Amino acid sequence: MDDQRISRRDSLLKLGGLLAGAATLGGWKTASEAGAGPAGVASGEIACVLAPEATEGPFYLDDARVRRNITEGRPGTPLMLRLKVVDASSCRAIRNAAVDVWHCDAGGAYSGTGGEADERFLRGVQRTDAKGLAVFRTIYPGWYPGRTVHVHVMVHVAGNVVHTGQLYFPDALTDRVFRRAPYRRRPGRTTRNAADSIYRNGGRLSTLALRRSRPGYVGSITMGIQRA
Ligand code: FE
Repeated sequence: MDDQRISRRDSLLKLGGLLAGAATLGGWKTASEAGAGPAGVASGEIACVLAPEATEGPFYLDDARVRRNITEGRPGTPLMLRLKVVDASSCRAIRNAAVDVWHCDAGGAYSGTGGEADERFLRGVQRTDAKGLAVFRTIYPGWYPGRTVHVHVMVHVAGNVVHTGQLYFPDALTDRVFRRAPYRRRPGRTTRNAADSIYRNGGRLSTLALRRSRPGYVGSITMGIQRA
């Protein structure tokens, strides 16, 4: 592995106070209803502000491709990710944020971290549109020892990393997906959400809302971020 390609942005974790959420537009109070700004955030009345920062983990590569479809033909249950970025102070959509995602394949492997250093499957970057939305076409992640199923996410606004987090899946749905090919070739995942040390730190609020969309699923979440 080429360690120099892995960015360790530990200092960014100090930005803290993160804020990723599973709220939907229909359920929000507007900032004016809830009391905008830090007070509204602290009181929990601004519903778009949710989860804490999470570690980026060891497998981030900072040269991910700008593209919507990140599958590169990796087999798995199709998953559309709809990730919305809003300003945590106002719940307003943030346009042109760069959203960076990466996750392991159905066999639990990350691209670019093993023998094939130039592989980049299941990694990509998209810019948010006027509604704050970044969309990716991917597959349901597999699992690797010691971690529950997750997708890593990093949000950049105006060149600054403003959020590093992880997105989670309901265990019952993961169980269902993992009973099918290709996941079933590798049974016995070690760790479910409740037993995951990173999930425990606000993971419930970073859990994707999933709905069936044959032949796969659509996973959605709103991430309230604080601009750097
Ligand atoms: Fe990971």
